[in-house]
Amino acid sequence: MPAFPQQYTSTVSHWQATNRGPGSLWDHGRNDVLPADADIVIVGAGVTGVSLAYHLTRPGMKKRKVVLLDAKDVASCATGRNGGHIGPASWDVMGNLIKPLSQGGGGVSEEDALDVLFFEQDTLDLCEVIVMRERLDVDFWRGYRLNVATTPEGVEESKQTLDAYHRAMKRSAKHGHRHLDSSAIFDAAEAERISRVKGALAMKWTPSGSWHPHRGVTALLKKALENKDFSFYSWAPVASLKEYRGGWTVDCAERGVIRSKQVVLATNGYTRHLFPDDFAANTGIAAHLTPYRGHAGLVVPPVTYAGDKSLEGSYGIENGPYLIQTPHAGVVLGPFNATVVNTFGTPRDLYGLEDDSIVVPKFREWLTNYCRENYVGWGPEVEGEGLARAWSGIMCHSVDWRPLVGEVPGKAGMFISAGYNGHGMATIVNITRCLAQHLVTGVRDERLPRCFDISQERLDRAAAECLPLLPPESKL
Ligand SMILES: Cc1cc2nc3c(=O)[nH]c(=O)nc-3n(C[C@H](O)[C@H](O)[C@H](O)COP(=O)(O)OP(=O)(O)OC[C@H]3O[C@@H](n4cnc5c(N)ncnc54)[C@H](O)[C@@H]3O)c2cc1C
Repeated sequence: MPAFPQQYTSTVSHWQATNRGPGSLWDHGRNDVLPADADIVIVGAGVTGVSLAYHLTRPGMKKRKVVLLDAKDVASCATGRNGGHIGPASWDVMGNLIKPLSQGGGGVSEEDALDVLFFEQDTLDLCEVIVMRERLDVDFWRGYRLNVATTPEGVEESKQTLDAYHRAMKRSAKHGHRHLDSSAIFDAAEAERISRVKGALAMKWTPSGSWHPHRGVTALLKKALENKDFSFYSWAPVASLKEYRGGWTVDCAERGVIRSKQVVLATNGYTRHLFPDDFAANTGIAAHLTPYRGHAGLVVPPVTYAGDKSLEGSYGIENGPYLIQTPHAGVVLGPFNATVVNTFGTPRDLYGLEDDSIVVPKFREWLTNYCRENYVGWGPEVEGEGLARAWSGIMCHSVDWRPLVGEVPGKAGMFISAGYNGHGMATIVNITRCLAQHLVTGVRDERLPRCFDISQERLDRAAAECLPLLPPESKL
């Protein structure tokens, strides 16, 4: 069954609620007639589809007729309902990513993990360059993320991954010369004093950023729309894709059909619906990419955390949230998957869920209480302070912890970029820069980490070795 048209009404995030003015792009192209043909059709207008369109339409890129379609509005799914955090990976990639697939890791080499680490650091730089170059008014902030460990196991893991990172850098011919701008404190009292997180045992700083994702993606889309060879149609759900000699037929039901030489699926958590055979059999792309539901909220702090007492960085807190400080509204936070699974939920609260129309009460309660219970001296919240809004959104888990990027094996001219494990803001703008080059030149862009490539061998290996997300009897 297709995911769209959606059978429910999604929750509204802080970002969607605060980008409703005349400069926003709600309903753009909703009533326009779709073109009959294109060179490239991009399905999905989240940050993947929009930033790809942005890169494809830059001056100097080879002329192409590019069409962007979305089942709903721009940034109406994960992109418009996320945490706003652009938090590149740091030495923690030396934990999960290099662990074998059979132990729940990414199964990649040390060098592959360093590729990912520096690609993500470069993504933050690229986001900043684009925001500055285009003079985008999108609340872009750049600073440091405080990663706070709250258990002895978390401290130990941080130490081990730091050592592993240093060892890997010594051995790396490709990255050994690079520098990760970061530091760590393993003194509990200092960690609590600096982070202001009760019970902090250790912390590290690494480069980080944030933006207003709905305004950010809308601004990139407007830039793309300045190019006359590009068009965007909202409320155009793609029902199916069929191969023909020379390209793909993109069927949008009553909106019409487009024939395109290339098609790119920027559909993240909903991708499996465009592979109905794989979905039915739980194989291939559909088995590799699993949707899951996250929650987030906007908290208005009391004056004890306002003005010069505001939080200075963004945060990642063990058994707690990822969190950013917005310039005006307060903080946006949400629980990590590990927090859900380890402290107040189960994998069933996450995986296989595609309905973003609800806020589950236990998540609302957690969002309500987290800051007041865990930040030192947060103080009482008066009416109008505290949790102001909560929402849910659908992300995409890739079983081997790496996005699938590139041409789909056995389907010439069909490309995917999806499966960011709730971390897409730190990779996508850079991935799509590489993908745009690949689409236009026909040659893979060597800046893209090799371990993101899609191959039949990768899909088969993951299917054979990865651990199930849920007990075997549960259907995702
Ligand atoms: C609660 C929450 C918090 C998050 N916090 C962070 C964070 O702080 N930092 C971070 O890096 N990442 C975060 N993420 C993840 C991040 O938002 C995603 O990685 C990123 O937005 C993915 O972008 P996307 O464009 O690939 O997917 P999406 O934004 O989901 O876009 C996919 C688009 O495809 C469209 N689509 C799907 N199927 C079809 C079809 N058949 N026809 C037409 N259109 C279709 C959808 O309508 C949608 O607009 C969070 C996500 C959530 C939900």
